[in-house]
Amino acid sequence: MRLILVGPPGAGKGTQAVQLAKHYKIPHISTGDIFRANLKNGTELGKQAQSFMDRGELVPDSVTNEMVRERLGNSDVGNGFLLDGFPRNTNQAEVLDGILKAKNMPLDAALELKIDHAEIIKRLSGRRTCRGCGASSHIEFEKPKVAGVCDKCQGELYQREDDKEEVVSRRLEIYSEQTEPIISFYKSAGLLKNISALGEVSEITKNAIAILK
Ligand code: AMP
Repeated sequence: MRLILVGPPGAGKGTQAVQLAKHYKIPHISTGDIFRANLKNGTELGKQAQSFMDRGELVPDSVTNEMVRERLGNSDVGNGFLLDGFPRNTNQAEVLDGILKAKNMPLDAALELKIDHAEIIKRLSGRRTCRGCGASSHIEFEKPKVAGVCDKCQGELYQREDDKEEVVSRRLEIYSEQTEPIISFYKSAGLLKNISALGEVSEITKNAIAILK
């Protein structure tokens, strides 16, 4: 299974990606997670990405595309992969197309998670992320057992700079302007599938697997 997940920030791409990657036994490649790991480790790539990330802007394509090209050069993608958060504009979609064509590894599907903007603001402003393992929880809808502590690894939960309300609005604008156009790109290619991002996590995963059959 070679799959990309598309949807606005807060649609639950990361959560679904973890479930789907487990189901299909494929690596979960999240460009946001790779950037955050680089930030945490203080690498050159992290330094290049930080100001864009903090403002909710896209990291320049020159940086992001090369990072993905390198990641897709790893041998673990031989059985497939799930890209989460990439591509995010038409240039990235075209570059990805080129990388996959050269490797003779066409995409099987682009799965869109659909959700309206009011719901997103509610979800993201209460979202908390674990500094240790990156898992998400929510101060209202998915409360951790102990406030501020990750259920999975006991790491510290924090609010991502880009989950603060003013940055969320900017991320949504960017999604509408830059990312939404890739939906028609994949529709024309006959690869687009969509499901609702509302409801229980397990229900959404079930719907995703059913539509990807
Ligand atoms: P995410 O965790 O997917 O919401 O990504 C967090 C941030 O990382 C985004 O707001 C961007 O600043 C950056 N980022 C992640 N993926 C990409 C991408 N494909 N292109 C450009 N920037 C990205």
